[in-house]
Amino acid sequence: TMASIPKTMKGVIMEKNGGTEVLQYKTDLPVPEPKEGQILIKNDFVGVNFIDTYFRTGLYPAPHWPYMLGRESEGTIVATGSGETYNLSTGDRVVCLSEATYAEYTAAPAAKATKIPDSLPPKTAAAALLQGLTALTLIREAYHVNKGDWVLVHAAAGGTGLWLCQLLKAVGANTIGTASTAEKVALAKKAGATHMVNYSQEDVKARVDELTGGKGVAAVFDGVGKSTFDLSLDCLARKGSLLSFGNASGAVPPLAIARLSAKNVKLMRPTLFNFIVTREEFDGYTQELFDFIVKDKMDVSIHETYALSEVARAHNDLEGRKTSGKLLLDPSK
Ligand code: NDP
Repeated sequence: TMASIPKTMKGVIMEKNGGTEVLQYKTDLPVPEPKEGQILIKNDFVGVNFIDTYFRTGLYPAPHWPYMLGRESEGTIVATGSGETYNLSTGDRVVCLSEATYAEYTAAPAAKATKIPDSLPPKTAAAALLQGLTALTLIREAYHVNKGDWVLVHAAAGGTGLWLCQLLKAVGANTIGTASTAEKVALAKKAGATHMVNYSQEDVKARVDELTGGKGVAAVFDGVGKSTFDLSLDCLARKGSLLSFGNASGAVPPLAIARLSAKNVKLMRPTLFNFIVTREEFDGYTQELFDFIVKDKMDVSIHETYALSEVARAHNDLEGRKTSGKLLLDPSK
């Protein structure tokens, strides 16, 4: 009930861009009020994503100051605002895509929240949502992967990468993944990559040529960005698709589109949020993701659950390539 909602909460805000020192952990932030079309969620788990680091550094500009990071969370609805709330009500356990999730409470758009099925442990749903939806929309819409396709996945042992490996296996693709260490190679193989290249030791293009008989791959899923862009183009087959969906190594610099004509390459810069604009899109993909997890027994790999007060260490680990799978925050600590 409303009476049990406190006035203040723990949360992390920033007043300027910079390194992890700009992340300010507070214990007395005002609990937000749900506006029209919003629900108030008491968060149990908050997902950390690479995009959070882009808003921290300023690669993506913060829309206002002070600014609270965070794009997803899992928790229980404690209040609902006016307007359409898609049959969600107080007491429902949900996952949501929202802004300002680095806190105990989030006023989230009801249109981007959904009930967690009984068959799914809430922590699994928490770890799955944003990166799982990214991987699913990438292999469906950015490039529709068919059985037997050869594809290349960079950072295959990362949070999004492990999802790509599992979903690509489920649709019957031949996946070549890249990673920086032997441990990450093993994790991505276990997730479903058919072939792995440790790029610290081996030449990626040479392995791709060897595996594809010199033809190259039909699609490259590239979330690394600046440092892999040219390699990704090189690894594509004629008429291949380059899906450049992130900037873990920095933003891809502008390029002359004439370069694409050498192999009639399609280039796309997709973002999850523009694949799930309507309620139908969000609902459809979320239910499909939950079905994949339950029916195909997908392994939702959690790297570590950090106390919210340790958010700086979480960012350092993610940016320092020390992680594999999902990083979560516990907002109660
Ligand atoms: P990851 O867990 O994949 O972590 C990033 C990984 O990238 C590292 O572990 C590392 O793996 C690799 N990497 C390569 N070069 C660098 C570098 N210079 N600095 C840091 N990491 C590097 O993170 P996420 O799953 O959260 O995100 C992966 C990418 O996908 C990001 O670019 C992110 O922005 C993007 N993304 C895009 C979305 C969209 O909608 N477009 C949605 C979600 C994610 P290794 O050690 O093996 O090299």
